[in-house]
Amino acid sequence: MAADGTPQPPHRSVDRHESFPQREERVLERWREHDVFAESVRRREGAPPWVFYEGPPTANGRPGAHHVLARVFKDIFPRYKTMQGHLVERKGGWDCHGLAVEIAVEQQLGFTAKSDIERYGIAEFNAKCRESVFTYLEDWNRLTERIGYWVDIEDPYRTLDNDYVESVWWALKRLWDKELLYEGNKVVPYCARDGTALSSHEVAQGYKDVDDPSVYVRLQVTEGNAVIEPGDELLVWTTTPWTLVSNAAVAVDPDLTYVRVRSGDEVLVVAEAAVDRLLGGEGTELVSSFTGAELADVRYAAPFPFIASEAYGPRGHTVLLADFVSAEDGTGIVHTAVAFGEDDFRLGREYGLTVVNPVRLDGTYDERIGPYAGRWVKDADDDLVEDLRSRGRLFRAERHHHSYPHCWRCGTPLLYYAKPSWYVATSRLRDRLLAANEDVTWHPPHIKHGRFGKWLENNVDWAISRERYWGTPLPVWRNGAGETVCIGSFAELEELSGVALTDPHRPYVDDVEIPSPTGGEPLR
Ligand SMILES: [Zn+2]
Repeated sequence: MAADGTPQPPHRSVDRHESFPQREERVLERWREHDVFAESVRRREGAPPWVFYEGPPTANGRPGAHHVLARVFKDIFPRYKTMQGHLVERKGGWDCHGLAVEIAVEQQLGFTAKSDIERYGIAEFNAKCRESVFTYLEDWNRLTERIGYWVDIEDPYRTLDNDYVESVWWALKRLWDKELLYEGNKVVPYCARDGTALSSHEVAQGYKDVDDPSVYVRLQVTEGNAVIEPGDELLVWTTTPWTLVSNAAVAVDPDLTYVRVRSGDEVLVVAEAAVDRLLGGEGTELVSSFTGAELADVRYAAPFPFIASEAYGPRGHTVLLADFVSAEDGTGIVHTAVAFGEDDFRLGREYGLTVVNPVRLDGTYDERIGPYAGRWVKDADDDLVEDLRSRGRLFRAERHHHSYPHCWRCGTPLLYYAKPSWYVATSRLRDRLLAANEDVTWHPPHIKHGRFGKWLENNVDWAISRERYWGTPLPVWRNGAGETVCIGSFAELEELSGVALTDPHRPYVDDVEIPSPTGGEPLR
């Protein structure tokens, strides 16, 4: 007892020669002996719960020092809440899926491309992935105990387990029912030979200096406005003529000055800053000048006739205003192919242009591109330029020496390419996310409206699909007629397909067909 009567812990002398690690081992031994963690949970039975699930690490790699810090935080709060009287069952977990696992197995098997996996067999490949995911489980369990992290590793959740996969299907079905799950496009650097998108890190490894065409194209105005007349020609520049068949619109800077200049019988439209470079010494006459903003909505005829304006929606083949246009190279009017550029894609989304991608996954044109169908797009460049020349649509063609990204694996020039991907429409919940953030107490406080708040404000829809092998399969079945169903449980799948899955992974799930509700082709 202290002088004021409060109880004091019994005095224990401290061994001043014992090393800290030794002392820690002694404490851990006592915790083991008395099963202290389990007991601390048992003593709170019936108390109000405070729920904690471990954000699961991947056990196909060794734990490192950086895992310790996060686990200290994951330990402090459950202990604190337990001390406050809550029942805190800490559910451990293991992330068993994903690219990290696949890449480790690919390296082990000496694979360099997705086609290697297809040849080897998806079932066999996924079996190898499954075998590999707990390689370092013992190391993890040792680390967990050694750092005194209290978490239930006896009964963890594992992302490869059927009931976990089914819970993800349940969540996706809820999103589907709220119309928050949709298929959209994303422009990615893409190797058509390997059939894979490359990360920015991979792209950076493959730049090569190459000669590409540098082409100036005339786009004839079909519907003018106060400053532009029908028959005027908008000049655009590109080093990828193969994308001109997919021209959807052109972009100008609203604040930049543009001019109409007469050159012989023609009136050309370019940025004022580009006139001398493009038309210097050609006996041109300035007709009028205006801002880019005044060009908005002007309509023009597409450089190639393969895809109609209507396919892109009401704003197809019109002048749009953008924030990425400059007159430093080119003409100040930017050819926009929504499926083949990141800026193009963003602008297209802003203006509601439909994404039309006439290039197959193997990098060849599809049947929509008439005489060019079946050709590798980069090989079509020269013929497309001649095509423009023969129709009087070419202003100038040169060669342009520049640095262009190539695949680091196989040397193929990369295409910026719109690939379909499934998204969760998180941007539609932005206001609620921001409101919820206001109720969060952040340490340090500047994160709240800084890094995290900014991230929420600029939130873009979450791309959840990967065209890979070892992961939770997306529970969407559909057919060519557009009939689509999202499945929320194994029981629902069995009811609709008659198939009871024992393993929901690929390739088994790929074989499950659901009969069409209207008697059409089956949904897959
Ligand atoms: Zn490649």
